[in-house]
Amino acid sequence: MTDPLALITSSLEAAQAPALTCSFQVEGVVLLDMLRRIRPGIPVLFVETFHHFDETSRYRDQLTEQWNLNLVTLRAAEPQPGLWQVNTDDCCALHKVGPLFAALEAYDVWFTGLRREQSPSRAALREVGSFRLPSGKSLTKVSPLAGWTTQEVWEYAREHAIPLLPLYEAGYASIGCEPCTRVSLDPSNPRSGRWQGRKLECGIHIQPAAAGD
Ligand code: SF4
Repeated sequence: MTDPLALITSSLEAAQAPALTCSFQVEGVVLLDMLRRIRPGIPVLFVETFHHFDETSRYRDQLTEQWNLNLVTLRAAEPQPGLWQVNTDDCCALHKVGPLFAALEAYDVWFTGLRREQSPSRAALREVGSFRLPSGKSLTKVSPLAGWTTQEVWEYAREHAIPLLPLYEAGYASIGCEPCTRVSLDPSNPRSGRWQGRKLECGIHIQPAAAGD
């Protein structure tokens, strides 16, 4: 396993336009802390779905001010609040996947806080890989914490006195939009509380099929 700081440093050296996606969960915030120490001002891409917990929005704003973050908020051009009640795949595609993939066109290195331990859907996650956007453009996706355990993430946060999203204290292990987040059903699968256990990913971290595939 590559040392996260070494991987971050080498990836930044190779990047023309790096960015980080962050939903302000603990992994993302730990990675953000590592990145901001090396590259203050790195764009922090946050997808505004209009369905986040109030606690998430408040925490995002507090950390943005405290760390002087370069927060870039992404939104659907025509949001449809409540679409999740009709079809969660369509809702994630409209509010999350579309805005993020459009924004990533401007970057060449994409840092994520993904970890293999988070979910069976992430078990084969690579620290560095090529990611092709629907437009055909490829960028480098870097997940420096891919091999980290939950315990290592929380230890880093504790050692660096990083304040965390208060929802963890309420028992949540993986936190997304409020209507689609429950306390995890399966302790060995932190993402089992998302979408009432009916799916594990919103579509962002699945390689999109190219036209014609
Ligand atoms: S997680 Fe739920 S509310 Fe959020 S974008 Fe996806 S379906 Fe919509």
